[in-house]
Amino acid sequence: MTETSPCLVCDLGDADIIQQTDNVVAAYYTNAIKHGHFIVAVKRHVPTFGDITPDEAAELLSVAQQLVKKSETLNAVEKHYLVAIGDVDAHFHIHCIPKLVDDPKLGPHVMSPNGWRGTLPARKEESVAEFVSTMKSV
Ligand SMILES: [Zn+2]
Repeated sequence: MTETSPCLVCDLGDADIIQQTDNVVAAYYTNAIKHGHFIVAVKRHVPTFGDITPDEAAELLSVAQQLVKKSETLNAVEKHYLVAIGDVDAHFHIHCIPKLVDDPKLGPHVMSPNGWRGTLPARKEESVAEFVSTMKSV
């Protein structure tokens, strides 16, 4: 089953798998940044959100929401942060990272009152207008 090895999803061990459906698998994340950090991934080797089918997207979000709700009830989790980066792995997946009641909020570490933290190119209004126009035209 493994086309590229090692593979985040193809190499999952049974002990880490939380739930499987026809198209997605949910598992405790191998390199969890905190307890309860799990992923929901498509089973096919399709790396980006744009590559997965609408059925896979619906199934992925449905399973993620179901497990997030369960974790929030069973583990006294306030909420989950959902993250999809996809720079490395062959399977599109989202990370579901729990935030406990006493955990600091993640937002201020990512966003500042003036926008995204870090160095980004200056916003060009004509580029924004072009992007929005293009997106609306489809
Ligand atoms: Zn794989």
